[in-house]
Amino acid sequence: MIVSKRAELEDIHLKHDLLGSIEVGILILDRKFHVQLWNQFMENHSGLTPNAVRDKCLFDLFEEIDRDWFTKKCDPVFALRSPAFIIWEQRPYVFKFNAYRPITSQSPHMYQNVTIFPLTSLSGEVEQICVVIYDVTLEAVSKQRFLSVNTQLQKMSRTDGLTGLYNRFYWEEMCELEFKRAKRTEQFSSLIILDIDHFKNINDTYGHPAGDLVIKTMAKIIKTAIRETDVAGRYGGEEYTIILPNTEAKSAKMVAERIRRLTEAFPVEYEGIEINFTISLGISMLDMSYDNYTTWIERADKGLYEAKERGRNRTVMSK
Ligand code: GH3
Ligand code: MG
Ligand code: MG
Repeated sequence: MIVSKRAELEDIHLKHDLLGSIEVGILILDRKFHVQLWNQFMENHSGLTPNAVRDKCLFDLFEEIDRDWFTKKCDPVFALRSPAFIIWEQRPYVFKFNAYRPITSQSPHMYQNVTIFPLTSLSGEVEQICVVIYDVTLEAVSKQRFLSVNTQLQKMSRTDGLTGLYNRFYWEEMCELEFKRAKRTEQFSSLIILDIDHFKNINDTYGHPAGDLVIKTMAKIIKTAIRETDVAGRYGGEEYTIILPNTEAKSAKMVAERIRRLTEAFPVEYEGIEINFTISLGISMLDMSYDNYTTWIERADKGLYEAKERGRNRTVMSK
């Protein structure tokens, strides 16, 4: 008798120690969602003692918990005896607790993963459920930071720093996709390659920063002259490429000429000096006989070469 009483006391003591020192929140709820057990973690973070919450309804104690949603989550735990899980990606927290280290974690609240599992009584019924709260703030914050850095890097790896247009690498990927799409669907698609005429002279005469300004201005002209569905890239130093989906040769020529005339008409002003410049352009409409997107680019480039040969400041359609 004495031995068993002592064993029982030790058991209670052990459980009390365990529940108190464990770094997770543990609470037990009955079918009416009245609190039956509340461990030290829950007390520390809510500021409510076990006595203050005992036999009280969870939803009266914590207004942030959506009753309908939480009840639905728990229904299968009672009825089917299957555990339920709530992860922070779905819902950042169940209990609105402050973050343990708000300064280092950079989050005002604690992110939580939650497990709810059934507790079977002696009669075999599920009369109570146990809710376990895991503090996953550090993990959640670092994952979010990783994702945002990643998006930033992805964006940076796509765009050209000077002009904000797509860089050559990414533009070529888009070009390959468009090539495949247009060939599969047998739709028109056109390419324009353009290059600033005698650009070396601009650099030599006005200096490199003036040259940079011309490159930026050229990108702006392109952006204003094309449609939102067109894809423009900076292919090289002072060379640009544009994909015009669903566009046949005649319309592509109109776009090219619009860009050429705009460029000719608007000089760049640099430190009070007007810099006039022109461009040459090559166009190629996708031909079903091309077996690779690089052939398509080569064709447009051939047009550009011819435009230069014939005296610059002109558009040549490649056959
Ligand atoms: P063409 O009419 O035949 O195209 O002659 P071009 O002088 O424009 O052609 P070329 O290819 O000889 O010169 C291109 C120059 O562009 C050479 C290079 O120093 C310059 N360049 C390349 N990238 C940049 C850049 O980002 N900024 C500036 N300012 N210059 C650049
Ligand atoms: Mg040039
Ligand atoms: Mg060039």
